[in-house]
Amino acid sequence: MSDPVRQKVIAATRTLVVKVGTSVLSREDDTLDEARLESLASQLQAVRETGRKVVLVSSGAIGSGIGLLGLDKRPDDLPHLQAAASIGQAHLIRRYDDCFRRRGLHAAQLLLTANDFRQRTRYLNVRNTLLTLFEYPTIPIINENDTVSINEIKFGDNDRLAALVSHLLDSPLLVILSVIDGLFDGDPKDPASKVIPLVESWDESLLKLATTDKSARGTGGMQTKLDAARTATAVGQNVIIASGQNPHVLAQIFAGETVGTLFMARGETVPAWKRWIGYSSKPKGRFTVDAGARGAVERQGKSLLAIGITAVHGEFFKGEVISLVDHDGREFARGLTNFNSHDARRIAGKRTDAFAEILGGLRYGEVVHRDNLVVIT
Ligand code: GLU
Repeated sequence: MSDPVRQKVIAATRTLVVKVGTSVLSREDDTLDEARLESLASQLQAVRETGRKVVLVSSGAIGSGIGLLGLDKRPDDLPHLQAAASIGQAHLIRRYDDCFRRRGLHAAQLLLTANDFRQRTRYLNVRNTLLTLFEYPTIPIINENDTVSINEIKFGDNDRLAALVSHLLDSPLLVILSVIDGLFDGDPKDPASKVIPLVESWDESLLKLATTDKSARGTGGMQTKLDAARTATAVGQNVIIASGQNPHVLAQIFAGETVGTLFMARGETVPAWKRWIGYSSKPKGRFTVDAGARGAVERQGKSLLAIGITAVHGEFFKGEVISLVDHDGREFARGLTNFNSHDARRIAGKRTDAFAEILGGLRYGEVVHRDNLVVIT
């Protein structure tokens, strides 16, 4: 059934980012499900033909490596997982390329680590490559660079990676395809539970609906999908979680039909620069702020003034990304600091009119200007 809210979302979509999980792509014996890949390729091609840009974030490297090697279980140590990913990724991309070539398209492989998003220049390079790929008959296929990713540089899961990829692009719709039909209003195994068709606001009860169960092959679960949806909707993007086992899922989504769960964008689109500050960058330090400053930043969209800062943590230069945390240490915003850590310590808790004397000249009135500040919700 076509739905007006869904139709509006589709009409506003210029770019489609599809994330597909390992469980959708694998058969029981861990080998790649070729029919699924074919179906995915033809659905993506159909969306591309509507004039939209299409990006695929695909898991399945480790899973398919395990299948190819005939291992009886998923290795539990990093080197063997990385070796499986290395073998599986080559196979996965070859299979995708075969499927897309039959449709006149090339598979373009991008293997990324979290560092590629944290560093602004690398981030922009990824963006430029993607935008250039859109000029050619290709489908960019992104996965984490598992063979080099260790804990410090890992995204954690491809749901998060897909949300960050969607932040790079204009007017995206993020579709997360899994083996579950969407977000259920109760235990998905209970036949009385139903898929929630539309989520417009986020509260504690919603977050509780994510069970920690994960599918046998993938690394995520509903929790990581909800986290990804939360990140993407916070910056003004729409997200759908639906079943990748449905061979017509993308066609139905683009027909505006009520499939899966639609998470509506919360508020206006946050500009690309702020999306990077808020969700991709790696903060170099922290400002602990009092309740007054937190309220001014969070609810009134004000700049951060020195008077509201109660502590400065870390060593940083002017212009670097800093977290704003409350007295419980909870991060609620990020922004670019106008002062290095040395000067910030000297002016913390002081009124702006005292800066000139402390620093020998007033350079900036705000420690973090609202134009460079992002509230994380
Ligand atoms: N990068 C992993 C793989 O391709 C999957 C990670 C995930 O599914 O979250 O096997």
